[in-house]
Amino acid sequence: MNTPQSIGVVPIGDIPDMAPRVIVAHISACLNLEATVLKPIGTPSYALDRQRLQFDVGPILQNLESKPFKGVDKIIGVLSVDIFLPVFTHVFGEARQGGRVGLVSLFRLKKEPPGPDRLSPDVLQRAAKVALHELCHLYDLAHCENNPCLMHFSGSLEDLDQTPFNLCRYCTRFFKDALALPGRPLL
Ligand SMILES: [Zn+2]
Ligand SMILES: [Zn+2]
Repeated sequence: MNTPQSIGVVPIGDIPDMAPRVIVAHISACLNLEATVLKPIGTPSYALDRQRLQFDVGPILQNLESKPFKGVDKIIGVLSVDIFLPVFTHVFGEARQGGRVGLVSLFRLKKEPPGPDRLSPDVLQRAAKVALHELCHLYDLAHCENNPCLMHFSGSLEDLDQTPFNLCRYCTRFFKDALALPGRPLL
């Protein structure tokens, strides 16, 4: 029997309540996993790059990976600040394949101009989609060439809007196998 997996969604910094709640609802509905909103934590000022005026994903993930977060198997952190990986101008979200913590930022999820201030139904839908995508990376799923599939890589909001909430048949099987054998080594 599979051990039921439990997902914690952590608001980081100043986040509208609705965002983590919508993400939790989608994790339960689309991936059939138990999910809860955890206690908020502060803005990761240690990760601010003063030249780019963006927040570096690396130290944020490292910091969250080092926290115990008792009672949950995987963590999705939700931020409203702009996040980046050194090789990209910005990212919607990030997760290490097979890791414990993934991130989603609301900052780039609305059409021009980007910013943290507005939270429309479109932005909430996109945030939930990015969160599900990153969560699947945490269960070892890689990017998928099969379109349509949640694991398709989205470089733009247009890509993201065309990406479905569900996994393709191949990824669904992979995801179920990963849940059956949590912690198995990467091939
Ligand atoms: Zn991805
Ligand atoms: Zn797929």
